[in-house]
Amino acid sequence: MLSDLAALQARLAAVRDRIAAAANRAGRDPSSVRLVAVSKTFPTDDVRALANCGHIDFGENKLQEALPKIAATAGMGLVWHLVGHLQSNKARKAASVFDLVHSVDTGTMAERLDEAAAAAGRRLELLVQVNLAGEAAKHGAPLGGLLPVFDAARRCRSVNVAGLMAIPPATADPEEARPHFRMLRDLRDRLLSEGVDRAMLRELSMGMSADFEVAVEEGATIVRVGTAIFGRRPPLR
Ligand SMILES: *Cc1c(COP(=O)(O)O)cnc(C)c1O
Repeated sequence: MLSDLAALQARLAAVRDRIAAAANRAGRDPSSVRLVAVSKTFPTDDVRALANCGHIDFGENKLQEALPKIAATAGMGLVWHLVGHLQSNKARKAASVFDLVHSVDTGTMAERLDEAAAAAGRRLELLVQVNLAGEAAKHGAPLGGLLPVFDAARRCRSVNVAGLMAIPPATADPEEARPHFRMLRDLRDRLLSEGVDRAMLRELSMGMSADFEVAVEEGATIVRVGTAIFGRRPPLR
């Protein structure tokens, strides 16, 4: 057991080192990159093991799977990120347990989360998920559908939009993801030039196990890393 936990903690440390090296290559401060450990399909014990060595940010992609893990680690001071798609009928529950929702892609969803957060007496940060490549099978707002999400968010009081998130098409070579990461950064810059408030565009959530170093080189402020920390995921049932 102990050696399993030591191995897990060593993988976390290795990912941290790789993030720092990528940040340094790009002339960035490594502390400007937040590492979200995506614990989907992995047990709460793994989350606890990382929390016990000081890790704070954890991600899940499904509400139902996240609920018991969040409940079992209550009081540990963890920050929980919902990185997967959220169905609108689950907004209320999601707003009562998550701290950041990375997958907001409509103004209606921002408003639902706002109402739910207000009812729960909580504050929530939201990221606007962008469907960069216009992939039909993927979630995320189309490039032309972003401003309405920001407009809706401006009217919210218990949630605030803090930036953008994207999941580029899966590729074998991390370099193939680079243009997509650049596209998200350029989009952020374009929205700034169109007058969207800087506070709504602080974060770029991009990069996963296969390509987080490239994402950091291109300006990621949040990387979402699962398998490189926790190991191979069991096949989906
Ligand atoms: C699973 C998941 C990740 C982590 O993926 P890995 O390849 O295991 O690092 C990141 N983001 C989202 C949205 C995910 O669903």
